[in-house]
Amino acid sequence: MIVSFKNDDPVYENWCKSYPNGFVLNRTSLTNKKTDNNKIHLSNCSHLTRSNGQGQQTKTIPKVCSINLSELIEEAHLLCGESWNMCQTCKKKIEK
Ligand SMILES: [Zn+2]
Repeated sequence: MIVSFKNDDPVYENWCKSYPNGFVLNRTSLTNKKTDNNKIHLSNCSHLTRSNGQGQQTKTIPKVCSINLSELIEEAHLLCGESWNMCQTCKKKIEK
């Protein structure tokens, strides 16, 4: 199941806690037109919390989440076309 979070940090944080092995599409390109840097991370990736403060994570950058990676990849294609990739750090963890 795909779930989207926008300006709803408490619910997003709950989701991440419930699914530490879930996946998060970080839709960076919606706020920064210069980048096509939408990235899929594991929900516990430190990159997701790095740029935004506590309580601000879904305020500027909407998140699209799923516990199923192939489902989220399909959704990324629908939403972003080719403008997304896997976080390199998370990719290594997934491949292990
Ligand atoms: Zn990551």
